[in-house]
Amino acid sequence: MTTERAVKDVIVPTIASDGAGVRLRRSIATPQLDHLDPFFLFDQFGSENPDEYLAGFPMHPHRGIETVTYMLDGSVTHRDSLGNEGTIHTGDVQWMTAGSGILHEEMPHPGPRRLDGFQIWVNLPRKLKMTTPRYQDVLSAQIPEVVSRSGARVRVVAGNVDGIEGAVREIFAGPSYLDVALPAGATFEQPIPRGHTALLYVYAGQVEVSGKAVPSPRLAILSDGDLARARAPAGDARFLVLSAQPLEEPAVRYGPFVMNTEDEIRQALWDLRQGTFVKTRPAPTGP
Ligand code: FE
Repeated sequence: MTTERAVKDVIVPTIASDGAGVRLRRSIATPQLDHLDPFFLFDQFGSENPDEYLAGFPMHPHRGIETVTYMLDGSVTHRDSLGNEGTIHTGDVQWMTAGSGILHEEMPHPGPRRLDGFQIWVNLPRKLKMTTPRYQDVLSAQIPEVVSRSGARVRVVAGNVDGIEGAVREIFAGPSYLDVALPAGATFEQPIPRGHTALLYVYAGQVEVSGKAVPSPRLAILSDGDLARARAPAGDARFLVLSAQPLEEPAVRYGPFVMNTEDEIRQALWDLRQGTFVKTRPAPTGP
């Protein structure tokens, strides 16, 4: 029997400030919702006022997680201790596996209209906490778009929709990261493996999930089941659907680190002070 996933809870994003003063709508990593295993942060950054984001996120460390940045509008220039330097633009994705440790800066620039995008953190399991950092930059053109019979337009950042494989692959938690545009009256339907954590973030318009109305901006936590179904009852709607296998391991968060134990957090802070935080240096260039 196929069970449709219902809405278990609806989270109203909190206005937060992070980095050097970037205003955000935060739905995960708040007093209300610390994490939703394996998701440890869910931020939407969006503003028409450059003062609210131009200061950006100057050089800072991460360990034990993956950070995923997806741009709807505007761009973010990054630089990191692996030697990567570049800018992701509208529709692009940056999937960064911090693993044993990375230092990076993320500096936003406005698009033609505004800055808009998302950052999520996906926790890494114990056996990969100290893995070699990895960085995947995915251009908008590389992200497949699937149009379903019901008219849903789905950008497959990660996961599989109607047999089409997403742009980002080989990620431990088997995550699915879909950006869905739903014309008025259309329905979106997507199988999600039973046992996987699943959420739906409405960022434009309104959707109905299993008979429950979810307006924007809201994060809906879905109950367990085999598939997610959403309908745009009136007007166009846009939303993200994320799912992944929960790790079910102890987790300790301290700022930009998520580890399994307090000792590992202390080690990360010690490594930072000693200058031994970054285990992987960029490959030497030149002769
Ligand atoms: Fe960061």
